[in-house]
Amino acid sequence: MNTEIKMVDPDRIDQEIIDHAGDILKKGGLVAFPTETVYGLGGDALNPDASRKIYAAKGRPSDNPLIVHIADMDHLYPIVTDVPEQAKRLAEAYWPGPLTMIFPKTDKVPLETSGGLPTVAVRMPVHPVAAALIRAEGGYIAAPSANTSGRPSPTVARHVIEDLSGRIDMIIDSGPVNIGLESTIVDFTEDIPVILRPGYINKEMLEEVLGEVKIDPGILDANANKGIRPKAPGMRYRHYAPRCDLAVVEGSREAVVATINGLTEAAHAEGKKVGVIATDETRSLYVADDIRDIGSRSDDEEIARHLFEVLRDFDTDGVEVAFSESFETPRMGMAIMNRLLKAAGHHIIRC
Ligand code: AMP
Ligand code: MG
Repeated sequence: MNTEIKMVDPDRIDQEIIDHAGDILKKGGLVAFPTETVYGLGGDALNPDASRKIYAAKGRPSDNPLIVHIADMDHLYPIVTDVPEQAKRLAEAYWPGPLTMIFPKTDKVPLETSGGLPTVAVRMPVHPVAAALIRAEGGYIAAPSANTSGRPSPTVARHVIEDLSGRIDMIIDSGPVNIGLESTIVDFTEDIPVILRPGYINKEMLEEVLGEVKIDPGILDANANKGIRPKAPGMRYRHYAPRCDLAVVEGSREAVVATINGLTEAAHAEGKKVGVIATDETRSLYVADDIRDIGSRSDDEEIARHLFEVLRDFDTDGVEVAFSESFETPRMGMAIMNRLLKAAGHHIIRC
């Protein structure tokens, strides 16, 4: 299949291109598009064939549900059976934005889109190109991240091209995304709302609106949900992973640098190419082959924005073993560590 690639400036949207993309979606085709979190792979959320195509293009297990993207609040009510007061307040505070909410679904949403679940995940993105495309499509776009299943999510169009060129109808390129990590997911099907995936909207921001919020124990602990049926099937799968062996090293700054340099020398002795995820503060202290500065420790939004790109760069560079510093930062630390630990298969070295 020939994949059309079109640039759309978010500040001066070319409506002709958006309408063309909307037509592709209405006919059951697939279009990758920018959102504020990561690039999404869109299909008509109400068309089971389109959802099947999304799973096929990504190589995604079909029980891993898709998020339905809407652009107007009126479009929420036809696809969910109940919107609790608390969810309405959260929507008022953070929609449009990087927040996904889970509700019991109506029959309008095919089981192919919900991954076989009786619930549906809904998000209203704030990115102007995403909002324009949703409206052009008619209201409901199912979109997981636009990457091959298991690989780091795409934060620039080049990542989408690497993974999906030839497998989908169109890619809209609007430059790098703002946030770089997927949306925060809050489940409203329990008495107390539960964070299933951490993101830019952090626990404190949710608590400001909701009061008590629970956190799914699987977010940072690989073993927490063992034996329990996971709430979100996505939690079962290996995710965000580069091809190399990645380990996260935890400890004081000095100990981390010394440990990573020791491990680098050991890997060099085996003839391996070594990558390190460093920060502005430490980049000059390492001896590895491919030292990636992910940003400054004083700006964890910058760290979040660069994480997936750095993981992909290791693949491009043929890095075989990689070590990362740990980022338990105040604002986005939970979201960053959730992705980083999954990418590392929860391989942690404490020093
Ligand atoms: P992604 O496709 O990578 O953007 O992630 C979509 C994720 O949303 C899935 O992996 C699930 O974790 C989550 N999700 C979507 N729908 C549901 C649902 N009905 N219940 C629980 N989690 C969901
Ligand atoms: Mg994904």
